[in-house]
Amino acid sequence: MTFRSPNPKHGKFSEVYPGYEDCGWLNGGAKMCDHPKQEYDNSFYIMRGTDIIYICLTCKKYWHVDMSD
Ligand SMILES: [Zn+2]
Repeated sequence: MTFRSPNPKHGKFSEVYPGYEDCGWLNGGAKMCDHPKQEYDNSFYIMRGTDIIYICLTCKKYWHVDMSD
């Protein structure tokens, strides 16, 4: 039997990183800058990997990536 736990961090991204620019999905062809990134799990469920966010603290931008497949 498996079950999914809701991710307590889901949807809290804009509270943690206010004012950051959404640059879209890497899966959709968006290009990242070369700075080091912080990773944030914005998935609805823990361990699903459906919405991982890479954050550049230098550019104040972030990119989504879907790891689910
Ligand atoms: Zn950057």
